[in-house]
Parts: sequence; structure tokens; C-alpha cells
Amino acid sequence: MTNHDLIIIGGGPGGYTAAIRAAQLGLNTACVEREPRLGGTCLRLGCIPSKAMLESSEKFSEAQHKLAEHGVKVAGVELDLATMLRRKEQVVDTLCKGIDGLFRKHKITRYIGYGRIAGPGQVNVTAENGSVQQLAAKHIILTPGSKPALLPGIELHADRVGTSTEALSYTEVPQHLVVVGGGYIGMELGSVWNRLGSKVTVLEFLDRILPGTDSELAGEAIELFQKQGIEFRLGSRVTSAKFDPSQNTCVVQCAGAAPISCDRILVAVGRTPATQDLGLETVGISLDPKGRISVDDHFHILSAPGAPGSTGGPVGQTILNLYAIGDCIPGPMLAHKAEEDAVACVEGIVTGYAHVDYNLVPSVIYTHPEIAAVGKTEDQLQSDDTPYRKGTFPFRANGRARTLADMDGKVKILAHQQTDRVLGVHILGPRAGDLIAEAAAAMAFGASSEDIARTCHAHPTLSEAVKEAALAVDNRTLNL
Ligand code: FAD
Ligand code: NAD
Repeated sequence: MTNHDLIIIGGGPGGYTAAIRAAQLGLNTACVEREPRLGGTCLRLGCIPSKAMLESSEKFSEAQHKLAEHGVKVAGVELDLATMLRRKEQVVDTLCKGIDGLFRKHKITRYIGYGRIAGPGQVNVTAENGSVQQLAAKHIILTPGSKPALLPGIELHADRVGTSTEALSYTEVPQHLVVVGGGYIGMELGSVWNRLGSKVTVLEFLDRILPGTDSELAGEAIELFQKQGIEFRLGSRVTSAKFDPSQNTCVVQCAGAAPISCDRILVAVGRTPATQDLGLETVGISLDPKGRISVDDHFHILSAPGAPGSTGGPVGQTILNLYAIGDCIPGPMLAHKAEEDAVACVEGIVTGYAHVDYNLVPSVIYTHPEIAAVGKTEDQLQSDDTPYRKGTFPFRANGRARTLADMDGKVKILAHQQTDRVLGVHILGPRAGDLIAEAAAAMAFGASSEDIARTCHAHPTLSEAVKEAALAVDNRTLNL
């Protein structure tokens, strides 16, 4: 049996970040990943390939519709989808190889195979040829990630009725793509294929898109997406979706509505933790109703009755030296959140201290324009009865946005009415995903809106809209 200080099951952003930090802190570290390429959902099938397609499709759309107003004439703009897909794969491949390089640099042992807990402190790795390697460790971190959620009545059929995995690699532009779910994936990948020429219809169960984002900004965003040509049917509960080979078409059925025929269906109704078949029963771990692993605030897994290796006592006691992070535990399913979990978990193991402020995990939806947020939404402040002041500033009044010809959207800052402490920042606009970093840093230091307003921002930059929104909290914008 091979011994390590720490074994991590899963090589995504949670797993590889934990491995690197553990190696930096001197632990003899191993990572078990079943896929040949490290990087997890994020690098292989999520963040990176989707952003590559978003950027490429945006360039295509710019060449078609936006360059002329800059006085740049391009004739005969054509889509070369095969090259676009190949470029996406090259970006993914380079980044996956980068993680291999980091593992070598930090002398992290890599096991390629399926990892299962085999008892307290034990992990079995099953290789593709069925051979099993037995490993032992003082500490084990589980970070198996998540997989697409499905609905009853939906019958997956290759890339005709598929998930984000298939929608990242359609080899032809769908004529009519129906997207089930108006969340992150629906809006990002719906935008990609809309720009590349598909008719896109989004069926969303709720009466709004992007649940969880500030409703004022989500309301403005849907109008912009409609102008881009995406069709929305809100309040649509999808009851069945299937491919009909006899007609070579797909059919989606919603409660109380006529069936829709299309040539591709993208199912994007959320993700579910990949927590099955991990050998959890050998250490008495039971999952919560959503299939997640319950942990305490140091990421120790909480036990079920009579769990071997638990600290004893009733259900919910921590299981010694067994931890879980990332998409498989409660919290937002985001790569940077998994990375924060990873660093805090490993530092907690080595130093005894671990902390992540989940109120300060930014979120970014990479549509055009982007939608980014950190902290509380206005809806949350209203339902909590928190007294607040609000400042907004539109990008149409920002000089840099004008020069970019990218003026849709605004910055909204919410600050406590009495203390002026910033409680939430929401941005719909160009490069919102980059602009939100300032807000997250300011909030991490407990900034007031006046702190942001008194910070010198370079001119002409999009970030001046953040400063102006902070000035607007006190009704003293300078450029509006
Ligand atoms: P994962 O990245 O899922 O990694 C888990 C790894 O564990 C996988 O590689 C899996 O093969 C491996 N594994 C599982 N079980 C075992 C086992 N028993 N043995 C061995 N290996 C195992 N988040 C963002 O922050 N920004 C984005 O822009 C973004 N875009 C996304 C776009 C799409 C289309 C999707 C699907 C997701 C996106 N996400 C994004 C979410 C992000 O990918 C996840 O939150 C993140 O990857 C979670 O990291 P993780 O380490 O917990 O799990
Ligand atoms: P989501 O939770 O963002 O959105 C799912 C949507 O489907 C919701 O709006 C929900 O109301 C709707 N829905 C559920 N059941 C339905 C039904 N029967 N009919 C119609 N609509 C229905 O989930 P997602 O878009 O699948 O993405 C999964 C997760 O992956 C995200 O929550 C996020 O954590 C992560 N992700 C992040 C990014 C990013 O950070 N930019 C991008 C993609 C994915």
C-alpha cells in the first residue's frame, strides 16, 4: 500500500488547487483523476471551452454587425466552424497541459483512475484495465464535482438532445436550437449559437431569467438578449423533450402549450453533485436531499449514524481527516469558489485555520454584455428589511464605453443606509466580469461607497462607471 500525507479525489479547480497548495505547505500529496487530462469540468467541458466559443462567436458577430460603424469594412464574412472548434480545443489542451506542468513542478503524485474510499484513511484507484491500486493517507479530500441535472421526460440523444457538453461542440450550426433553462448555461451557450446563426428559443420555468441575479439587471438583460434575436418563453414547464428519428427532428413539449419542433435541444436546468459510487458508505457518509456532501466550516465531512472514523456521538459529528470541497458541497457551483474552498481546506489541515467569506464570491455571466455581481442583491436587501441606499450609473454616460461603441447596461451599488458600507455591487455592461474585481476587493476591506467614490480611477476607463455609481449613492454623480 502506498502512503501519502494527503490524497485528493478529483482533478478539477478544487482538486488541483488543493494539491498545489498542499505541496507548497510541504505535504506529500497525491491526486486521483479518472480522466487523462487534469482540469475537471472547468477546463475540459465548462468555463474555458465555453468562454473560447463566446469570444470567437463575438468576433464573428462584430465582424458582421459592428466593425462598419468604426469605419472598418469587411466583405464576405464567413463562419469556419471547424477552425473555431479546433481553436477551442487547443486552448483547452494548452491549459490542461499547464496543470500537468504545475503538478511536476510541485512533485504531486498523479494517479489516473477512478478513486473510491475503501475505509478510514484508505483509497482504492481502479485503472481503465480494471487493476486496483490501494493507497493510504492521513488526510483525504473529495472533490468529484458535478454533472448536468436532467428532468423526467427528457430523453438525451447524442447532440440532438444534449447538455452543455454537446452544445460546446456542435459540428454544424443548428437551424433552431431550443434551450431548456434560462440560467448561466442557457444564456451563455444560447448566445454563442444565436451569434453563429441559429434561431434560439429559451424555455424557462420561472417568470424571469437568471434566478439569483439582481432582478432589475436581469430584467434589463432579457430586453438586450431579445434585441439580439433570442426568443424567450417564460413560465414554460418542459414536460418532455426527445428526438424523433422518423421525422429527423426534435420535439419539446411544455405544460399547456403546443409542441415545438427544432433540430437541437440543449438541456441546461442546473447541475447535480457527482457524489455516487465514491465508497462513501464505507465511512458512513450520507448525502443531503440534493445529493451534496455536508461539511462543517473547516470542510470536515459530517457523519451518518455509526460512521467508522467519526469523532463519535450523534449524526453530524465530523469524520476525522476526511474533507469535501467544490461543487459537491453546498454553495455556488463556481470554479473560483472551488479554488477558495481548496486553499482554505488545505490551510485548515496544516495550520488549523480556514475561512472563506461566501458573501464575497463574485458571479459573472459571460453574455454580451456581461453580468457580474458580488454581495447582496437589491431583492435580498428588501426581503431582509436591510435599510440601503442605491447608486446607479449607465455606461452610455461613460467615455470609454462610447469609444468602444459598447454602451448598454449600468453599474449599481447598494450601500447600508446608516453606515454606508457597500453591501452589493451589480454590473450589466462591457467587461463587467473584470470590473467586479474592484468591488470584491473593496468589500473584502469593508469599504464604504464613499471609499470607492474617493478612489482615483484612471480616465478614460470603464471603471469610472463604478466610481460614478458610488458617487450616485450620495446623489453626486459628476458626469450625468
Ligand atoms: P470539477 O471541475 O467537476 O472536477 C471534478 C473532477 O473529478 C473531474 O475531472 C472528474 O473527472 C473527477 N472525478 C469525479 N469523481 C472521480 C472519482 N471517483 N475518481 C477520480 N476522478 C473523479 N464556473 C465558473 O466559475 N466560471 C465559469 O465561467 C463557468 N462556466 C461553466 C460553463 C459550463 C458549460 C459548465 C458546465 C460549468 C461552468 N462553470 C463555471 C462551473 C465550474 O466548471 C465548476 O464550478 C467547477 O469546475 C467545479 O470544480 P470542482 O473541482 O468542484 O469539480
Ligand atoms: P442554472 O441553475 O444557472 O439555471 C437553470 C435554469 O433552468 C433556471 O433558470 C431554472 O429555473 C430553469 N429550469 C429548471 N427546471 C426547468 C424546467 N422544467 N423547464 C424550464 N426551465 C427549468 O443552471 P445551468 O445554467 O444548468 O448551470 C449550472 C451551473 O453551472 C450554474 O448554476 C453555475 O453554477 C455553473 N455555471 C457557471 C457559469 C459562469 O460562472 N459563468 C457558466 C455556466 C455554468
